[in-house]
Amino acid sequence: MYCGICHTDLHHVRNDWGITMYPVVPGHEITGVITKVGSNVKNFKLGDRVGVGCLAASCLECEFCKSSQENYCDQIQLTYNGIFWDGSITYGGYSEMLVADHRYVVRIPETLPMDAAAPLLCAGITVFSPMKDNGLLKSPGKRIGIVGLGGLGHVAVKFGKAFGHHVTVISTSPSKEREARERLDADDFIVSTNSKQMQAGKRTLDLILDTVSANHSLGPILELLKVNGTLVAVGAPDRPFELPSFPLIFGKRTVKGSMTGGMRETQEMMDVCGKYNITCDIEVVEPHKINEALDRLARNDVRYRFVIDIAGNSSRI
Ligand code: NAP
Ligand code: ZN
Repeated sequence: MYCGICHTDLHHVRNDWGITMYPVVPGHEITGVITKVGSNVKNFKLGDRVGVGCLAASCLECEFCKSSQENYCDQIQLTYNGIFWDGSITYGGYSEMLVADHRYVVRIPETLPMDAAAPLLCAGITVFSPMKDNGLLKSPGKRIGIVGLGGLGHVAVKFGKAFGHHVTVISTSPSKEREARERLDADDFIVSTNSKQMQAGKRTLDLILDTVSANHSLGPILELLKVNGTLVAVGAPDRPFELPSFPLIFGKRTVKGSMTGGMRETQEMMDVCGKYNITCDIEVVEPHKINEALDRLARNDVRYRFVIDIAGNSSRI
């Protein structure tokens, strides 16, 4: 029914990472209703409201698969631009139907609309997972920073507020400040190109999530962390981060990464969204407008996620 347009789709369409196997059918923020089930599938039935994210397959035998961290299996196959067990290339959610292994399908809570829930399958879980991993679900009152107010960033702000934290947005777009504060309820907003604001923010944050899709230096951002603070990089620019040693050393700071999330955690994230009524701020586009939407995404002109109305169903849900 719906598929979000993640910046990863744009990276693939443009072959930013040099790994695209054309023709590519992107899309890993997929929601829909089940129309067929295999004979061995017991946990889903026709008509169920479900979602599929980034994972198509994993080995099911390694320590990561066994602990439902399938996202870290070294034989992981992704929903698109992956090579499936039978040698075929996987095609993603910019399509009218999708065949998925039931192990990589999650339920969408009844209270969430299918269109605004779609981006949770990648943007949502990608920011939820490091927040959980760094103890933010159960210990409110931390000061967290979200770098880049895009698809991932805006959901991160919503999670941060729902879990009781003080949330600072660090952005290159002064035009996003008002709605960040008013609509997303961010507590603070730093324009990263404003050296005064960056100076005033030094050593104020416990944890930073960097969601930026473009090449940039981590140095000035690291300065915003308290001593012993952690920066989790989830954005995936096509060139290495600039990582100067002084802000690392002088603040005993940590930089680490995080890759989407496991299946158990993805369902947990969905259920949390159902509980707190967290959905994405979306602009729905028809399939023939996909190229236009990708161009606008490249220009940072989206608030905050395009979602393709694959089946032309928006009025019927
Ligand atoms: P997005 O919606 O385009 O958001 C990225 C944000 O980065 C923009 O809104 C913008 O925020 C900021 N930005 C853009 N150009 C910039 C520049 N030149 N310098 C500094 N900031 C800039 O993208 P997204 O869908 O959230 O994805 C973000 C990144 O995460 C992509 O690289 C994507 O591939 C990656 N990703 C990783 C995972 C994972 O598992 N780790 C999962 C999904 C996506 P401001 O206007 O606020 O500056
Ligand atoms: Zn994605």
